[in-house]
Amino acid sequence: MTHPDHIEAPPSNLEALHGRCCIDCGHFLEGLGSNACPECGRPFNPDDPRTTRNITTNRYRRWLIGTCRIFYYASWLALLLIFVYSALWGDWLILFLLAIASAPFILLQFILLALPLQRISWRRRFAGFLVPLVFLSICVTNWPVVLSFKLHRAALTKIADRVANGEVITGPTTVGILRFRQIRMARGRDRVGFQLNGGAGGGVFLVRTPSGFVPELSDQQLPFGSPHFRNIWDNTNWTQDLGDGWFLVEQD
Ligand SMILES: [Zn+2]
Repeated sequence: MTHPDHIEAPPSNLEALHGRCCIDCGHFLEGLGSNACPECGRPFNPDDPRTTRNITTNRYRRWLIGTCRIFYYASWLALLLIFVYSALWGDWLILFLLAIASAPFILLQFILLALPLQRISWRRRFAGFLVPLVFLSICVTNWPVVLSFKLHRAALTKIADRVANGEVITGPTTVGILRFRQIRMARGRDRVGFQLNGGAGGGVFLVRTPSGFVPELSDQQLPFGSPHFRNIWDNTNWTQDLGDGWFLVEQD
């Protein structure tokens, strides 16, 4: 008893595709019922060996294509995680280190994308180049934190004004998605510091300087030439200028 609706290809075709793969992309074709590569769409004739290739000659190429695909999805995941980490006011030094650590992988992904190993749609190839570059831009400039700051700026300014006028805020304070361990004045008692993480010894602080404040560049060099100011807060490792007298610093 046969069920013609469920037979996708005659048995002779399946037999013919034993050990065969796509000429263009190296996708394994054995057991396929259709006459087109499911990976790249290249048509083939199962009964004509000139339209397919032997799998053994393409094993290395298939490995490279698989590696390229893993890198592609890994780079999207890395971008998502780094964006959230930066927007939640993570440590910029860790982002610097991630940029350096990821550079060899990004270089390898670019080489694999540039090699004519596989047919890729222009959209996917474009994303394959763009996603790691956006990832690096976050590591080097920490830009999501600036977006996050601008969203919270009005509420933060109100709190900073209250503290500058002598109000004492004890305990953690939540502003939007941000949670501050403490908000206090320091460094000559004219700056308001919002502590984001760490303990009594240090951590990341959001600092509002008084109006007319002039930042002084430090001799200390940050990676990628990012400026560091020495007179924002005490014992700082790095400074990020958020604009209009607001700075993000790490105290240690
Ligand atoms: Zn193919």
